[in-house]
Amino acid sequence: MTISSLAASIAESPTLRLNEEAELLRQRGEPVIHLGIGEPKNKAPINAILNSSARLNTGDIKYSPTDGIPSLKKAIIRYTEENYDKAVDADNVIVTSGAKQAIYNILYAILNPQDEVIILAPYWVSYPEITRMVYGSPVFVTPEDGGLHPRMTEIAEAVSASTKAIIINSPNNPSGLVFKEEFIKEIIEFCEKRQIYVIMDDIYHKLVFDGKKAVSCYDFAKGDIDESRVISVNGISKLYGMTGFRIGWAIAPRRLVRVMTNIQAQTTSCASVILQAAAEGALTGLQSIVENLRLTIQNNRDIIMRQLKSFNGVKTVEPDGTFYCFPDFSAYEQNSVKLSEFLLKKALVVAVPGKEFGMEGRLRLSFSGSVNDLVEGVARMKWALDPSAPNEIYIGDKKMIRDWL
Ligand code: PMP
Repeated sequence: MTISSLAASIAESPTLRLNEEAELLRQRGEPVIHLGIGEPKNKAPINAILNSSARLNTGDIKYSPTDGIPSLKKAIIRYTEENYDKAVDADNVIVTSGAKQAIYNILYAILNPQDEVIILAPYWVSYPEITRMVYGSPVFVTPEDGGLHPRMTEIAEAVSASTKAIIINSPNNPSGLVFKEEFIKEIIEFCEKRQIYVIMDDIYHKLVFDGKKAVSCYDFAKGDIDESRVISVNGISKLYGMTGFRIGWAIAPRRLVRVMTNIQAQTTSCASVILQAAAEGALTGLQSIVENLRLTIQNNRDIIMRQLKSFNGVKTVEPDGTFYCFPDFSAYEQNSVKLSEFLLKKALVVAVPGKEFGMEGRLRLSFSGSVNDLVEGVARMKWALDPSAPNEIYIGDKKMIRDWL
């Protein structure tokens, strides 16, 4: 069996491995709490279900145009106008099988081998891997002040003649931060001057708390979309909690959309028409589901923050959006993989190691789950790590005694 060195170098998804380990424990009857999951718990919006079942019931399930069903593209255009105050044309839109495929298509379309993509740590795990898969070279920029917000001076220092793109993800997975308006303005001005693409991964843009708003790159991009360097990526996964439907999209200059369409034509042909119908249903149906989801998650954010603040050695920044926080556990353990393995073994809690997002000493905790899981999950972590916590705890119906601190 021969496997290319490139393919062999693609990292296994950390959540896949953690999910498998957690599932094995669950099958053995262990009461595992999963704080690693990147999806809300809600049911799909009824309009999405009705629209996709109506399509299925026709029995006429064929290919759609590669770049998406026209009526779905129309709904995406309306969404872009309403949420970004940006007028775009059908030729600027491509529907993909998830935002992930949109990012893959974009990077495939714009990178020559060895071209560089600036990736801001902490970053979503897939950016470096997708960049490498299309023979590009990820260049990581980590804030030297030890914080989580990117800094323009450090980005400017990392840019070279080979820099093709920079990926901006605000609200950010894993930190939950919404990037500052001044930073977005600076980055757009810088990239327009240097002819660098800004890939705005906006998958969490409506999941923002406390009345804040995620500043959009479009607010500062000058001129027509076809001349612009801004590409936006979005989808229904987080917006409506429809991760399993696998529909996303990109808005880009039409020349680029055409190339991305050619790439997609030779990989998946098109996203499934049944799932495109579901996405159209969600986008054109009642939008109160988005606000309900946002409020539930904001409440969960408050609960997990309260829990974490009572955890002596943990430093945490309150997330402005998403359903993740990225606390610093380095007072207990700098090696995040070791820490994550320890917590799964001793406390039966799944948390994703910070190393996967480009930062050690931290864990990504998801607060998209139930309130009970959040409260008990953090209590178990505290018991496992903090000598000031009582050394006895019930995990399920088993009384556990801590004998390692
Ligand atoms: N971007 C970010 C930052 C994400 O967290 C995710 C999902 N975890 C995606 C993109 C991919 O979304 P989709 O399910 O639409 O592929």
